[in-house]
Amino acid sequence: MKTPSIRVQGLRPGLQVRGLDRGMTPVADWLCSCGHHERATGRPDVQQLAARVEVGTCPHLAAGSRAA
Ligand SMILES: [Zn+2]
Repeated sequence: MKTPSIRVQGLRPGLQVRGLDRGMTPVADWLCSCGHHERATGRPDVQQLAARVEVGTCPHLAAGSRAA
């Protein structure tokens, strides 16, 4: 019997922010459609990450070809 491919549960492509409650440190997880994962911790970093990423757009695979 072959080993089935494992899918990470609870993480879907996109930007997920949690810890926005008062007194908590916000944490943002960005899972790119290419599989790249990035985490930002702290409100400034979370805001920067949220401003930088475009959900559904992968900046990694297109790094070589800039489209102005
Ligand atoms: Zn990517």
